[in-house]
Amino acid sequence: MELTRRDFAKLGTLSLAARFAPVLNAQAAPKKKIGYAVIGLGRIADHFLPGAGLTSNSKITALVSGHRDKADRIAAQYAVPSGSIYNYENFDEIAHNPNVDAVYVALPNSMHAEYTIRAARAGKHVLCEKPMSTKVAEAESMIAACKAANVKLMIAYRCHYEPTNLRAIRLIRDGALGQVQAIESSFGFNMGPNEWRTNKKLAGGGPLFDVGIYSLNACRYLTGEEPAAISAYASTIDHDARFAEVEENVAWTMKFPSGILATCSTTYGANMPGYYHVHGSKGWLQVDNAFVYEGLHLRGFVNGADIDEPNPARDPSHFVAEAEHFSHCIQNNLQPKSAGEEGLRDMQYITEIYRSAGISI
Ligand code: NAD
Repeated sequence: MELTRRDFAKLGTLSLAARFAPVLNAQAAPKKKIGYAVIGLGRIADHFLPGAGLTSNSKITALVSGHRDKADRIAAQYAVPSGSIYNYENFDEIAHNPNVDAVYVALPNSMHAEYTIRAARAGKHVLCEKPMSTKVAEAESMIAACKAANVKLMIAYRCHYEPTNLRAIRLIRDGALGQVQAIESSFGFNMGPNEWRTNKKLAGGGPLFDVGIYSLNACRYLTGEEPAAISAYASTIDHDARFAEVEENVAWTMKFPSGILATCSTTYGANMPGYYHVHGSKGWLQVDNAFVYEGLHLRGFVNGADIDEPNPARDPSHFVAEAEHFSHCIQNNLQPKSAGEEGLRDMQYITEIYRSAGISI
């Protein structure tokens, strides 16, 4: 039986409130919103900040940046007090800020491990951007640090919380395509000059770490299986300053235990809108714009009929769902769907893809 506060007030006038008091206390006690510190006020933070603000259970309570002027501007937008603005040097003082429950790590890839571990040691839960790290060993240390501090770790795989991707997974699990035989997926873009993404020390590697990871992760969530074998090629065609340190293209094939074959590619040299196409014995599905913030579109032939389902949701809906999920897990002591172990698995497969392509990372 669910009671609203108005119902409860009415019961009070009928002297019945006492009888239902335990029910109201258990079901209606509002949970405190989870306060987030955002580290790295770059492009992705610009999507997460409004997304978290639109949830029912999260709010922005601190900022961490090397640029005080930028932090002050954003702090004014989100009513973050100036005492809750940190820089990379005094970040550990966040341990003493009771308004910060969790930290969102939105820094270049190679900084994820350090700031996740420092946040955990400060007693804060961690939502870390993908890719989880640049090395398998770093990912393992991040998981260990969060376990030791008894805080939760979630990797920000926003597609795990996005309705069109979830619908594709459901159709496949329900057998609407018959036996899945093959998947094709790609995601890439034409990289501009002077980006940290082409600095191997900061990025770990090229487009596989950055955007190819979406195809890799999608093949795993679409099949519900872990790849049993991987083979890959990498190349650099435009030998300009952009690709002095990281490769330009990667293509790889994965064989899953059921026999499903997935063929994926990623690039920093061409516009390659993220998509996947799943071929089944009785049908097919394709999601266009599968990995971007809006404009996702599911088409297919499933359960013997055509489907065509554009998703009208707009940015920052993915970030709302992601923050809502992590805050819910913190409030209710649940394991996040995309916990650290999920990021670690991708790191292991990324390492194997590079090994197969003859690139050391
Ligand atoms: P960005 O360059 O726009 O922002 C990076 C932030 O880190 C900036 O605020 C910058 O000042 C700060 N920073 C601190 N030290 C730095 C250093 N040494 N070099 C460069 N910047 C430094 O990058 P971004 O696009 O926001 O990416 C940040 C992270 O988010 C990356 O790990 C990326 O893979 C991830 N990302 C995720 C998504 C997604 O959809 N989930 C999308 C884009 C990026």
